[in-house]
Amino acid sequence: MTDEILVRADHISKFFKVAGGRMLHAVEDVSLDIHRGETLGLVGESGCGKSTLGRTMMGIYRPTKGKLYYAGKEVDLSNRKDRIAFSKKAQIVFQDPYASLDPRMTVGSIIQEGMEIHGLYDEQRRRERVAELLDIVGLNREHANRFPHEFSGGQRQRIGIARALAIEPEFIVCDEPISALDVSIQAQVINLLHDLQQKMGLTYLFIAHDLNIVRYISDRIAVMYLGSMVELAQSGELYANTLHPYSKALLSAVPIPDPDLETTKHRQIIEGDVPSPINKPKGCAFSSRCPLACDKCREAAPQLREAAPGHFVACHLVK
Ligand code: SF4
Repeated sequence: MTDEILVRADHISKFFKVAGGRMLHAVEDVSLDIHRGETLGLVGESGCGKSTLGRTMMGIYRPTKGKLYYAGKEVDLSNRKDRIAFSKKAQIVFQDPYASLDPRMTVGSIIQEGMEIHGLYDEQRRRERVAELLDIVGLNREHANRFPHEFSGGQRQRIGIARALAIEPEFIVCDEPISALDVSIQAQVINLLHDLQQKMGLTYLFIAHDLNIVRYISDRIAVMYLGSMVELAQSGELYANTLHPYSKALLSAVPIPDPDLETTKHRQIIEGDVPSPINKPKGCAFSSRCPLACDKCREAAPQLREAAPGHFVACHLVK
């Protein structure tokens, strides 16, 4: 990881209009820097806005408010030229390798498609590159002529990774890339992503709900709740000195691979469901489920602030 900030979300919000003209506040006022070569883990329950933030940070969605910067320059997603230039740098690996690959296309065509869209290389070089990419992700060159349904889930995710790498991006949003895979395959895909990062100097935004996985691949971890970032710290610091009540509850839900410890561990269960992002609670968004909520929490939203060097948290009760 370097000191250079590669991707910067500057006070980004993303709202969607829903039935009745109301607004769904999927992401609200999130600021986040990702350094070149870094893996930033983004964690939270389903519906917390992490995928929407990931898609906004790689240009699939235009932010409703705020700005996106890439390598120090603002990316204007309403400008076609900016959008195309940014799409050469930023790619995504999707969660569901079954749904994200067109079943009518051969693996070779799927991997080649991005090169064609961006006018990269001649026909022969594209075919060579497909073969190289299949090698890189641990598949066989002969697989280029087969169709997605002929592969297992782990192999399909490798195809998805080869497709993302085809145009030589610098930044990859990994949107829960292993959650649809068998546990036995998950570590292989994580190791592949890690090796690719070492070889190619890639920068990842790694989205997950499983704190176990994020712990080992991430340099820093950001925790989201109901569209807002509630905690951000170096990976080791976040686990050793968890500050936000929601992060603590998420961490206590992670199983420990030791049966003795597991039975004696205190589990902090989060009561209730995540409130609707159409109708958020007043004050702290977590106040309707937080065991420590007080009157102040129900009145005023806490701001994200630096509680320790490099460790940011949004909670009234953290000193
Ligand atoms: Fe809980 Fe209050 Fe902190 Fe929100 S601000 S997390 S409700 S203690």
